[in-house]
Amino acid sequence: MAVRSISILGATGSVGASALDLVRRNRDQWRVVALTANSSADELAALAREFGAEIAVVGGEAHLPALRDALGGSGVEAAGGQQALCEAASRPADLTLAAIVGCAGLAPTMAAIREGGTIALANKEALVSAGAVMMAAVERSGATLLPVDSEHNAIFQCLAGNALDQVRTITLTASGGPLRVFSAEELAKVTPAQAVAHPNWDMGAKISVDSATMMNKGLEFIEAHHLFPVGLERIRILVHPQSVIHSMVEYRDGSTLAQLGPPDMRVPIASCLAWPRRMETPCTRLDLAAIGELSFFAPDEERFPATRLAREAVQEGGAAPAVLNAANEIAVAAFLAGQIAFTRIAPLVAETLDALRIATPQTLDDVLAADAEGRRRAAALLEQD
Ligand code: NDP
Repeated sequence: MAVRSISILGATGSVGASALDLVRRNRDQWRVVALTANSSADELAALAREFGAEIAVVGGEAHLPALRDALGGSGVEAAGGQQALCEAASRPADLTLAAIVGCAGLAPTMAAIREGGTIALANKEALVSAGAVMMAAVERSGATLLPVDSEHNAIFQCLAGNALDQVRTITLTASGGPLRVFSAEELAKVTPAQAVAHPNWDMGAKISVDSATMMNKGLEFIEAHHLFPVGLERIRILVHPQSVIHSMVEYRDGSTLAQLGPPDMRVPIASCLAWPRRMETPCTRLDLAAIGELSFFAPDEERFPATRLAREAVQEGGAAPAVLNAANEIAVAAFLAGQIAFTRIAPLVAETLDALRIATPQTLDDVLAADAEGRRRAAALLEQD
């Protein structure tokens, strides 16, 4: 197989580590261009040395001296700051994995998209915030967007060879997270450690909290709407605690296709790395006889209102999805820092959305301005708590 080049934005994170594990196992097939992080300079330098990266970038400029030190004598270029992230993201690569967490990944992801290459998108907050602005950029540059999120990757696989106008419904499955069976009273007392202890998936802290509140599924609803525009009313959410079926597509003839797999992000990441072919992974094989039963439940939007908030935000349009995402990032950070209760996250997002009406963003700068305004307003509401 010909050697292909890859850049990984967010290389020190959970998705970054899973992707690098696959690259490591197929070392002779990949040339690593750019690896990025925010503040984990030593970890990033070690990865850049191991993989012989062209350039390593820390988003936080204050961490550049540490990165330079750690890379001394390696021949790997070092850079720091937002502009450097975008410059690295726009370096030619056969595949760019966008795996920065949060809207912080938006500008670098857009920089990669503008180059017109293949982008494997894990950074759902970027697409939720930028929505049509990002999809228009994909259209203009001719970039190929491959979904890494396990649900969207499943839908992508189930759609293969079929036109969207043949689809009756798309069902996003949700594990329901670690707090699925908690009562309202129990939810009010949940600690950060309980919220991040996902029963099936091993992920970064932010997405783990989003899974616990179900905001992750709300963000994924908006993500699905942009990637697979079948109409909002055709996109459903179904709780499926075993995380075996990663999503489903029902066609107009009554046939439903589902994608199944072990709850290991290396499976959807491998599907993007090898696309349009397949590659070996070391993942545990799915043993349905051992699993025995699969169960399904309707989401409970009383205890977990985040999916309703996301649906209403995308229905409202304008910059509401960007504001939803920004307020959620502030709320999750405050919860993880022990400043607010778990049950304050969704209300803070709702109050921020109620307080702001921002016109539909037309450009990346408009999206970033809406994101900044959403963060300011959510932080101001927190001050009043
Ligand atoms: P992690 O928190 O594990 O990693 C985040 C990565 O982004 C790290 O490399 C981190 O660097 C970097 N980063 C954080 N903040 C910034 C910033 N301000 N500027 C530049 N880089 C930054 O996240 P995950 O890997 O869990 O998630 C990454 C994305 O993938 C998210 O959007 C998430 O929703 C999505 N996703 C994740 C899944 C998972 O299984 N983890 C599944 C599906 C989607 P540093 O180490 O220096 O902080």
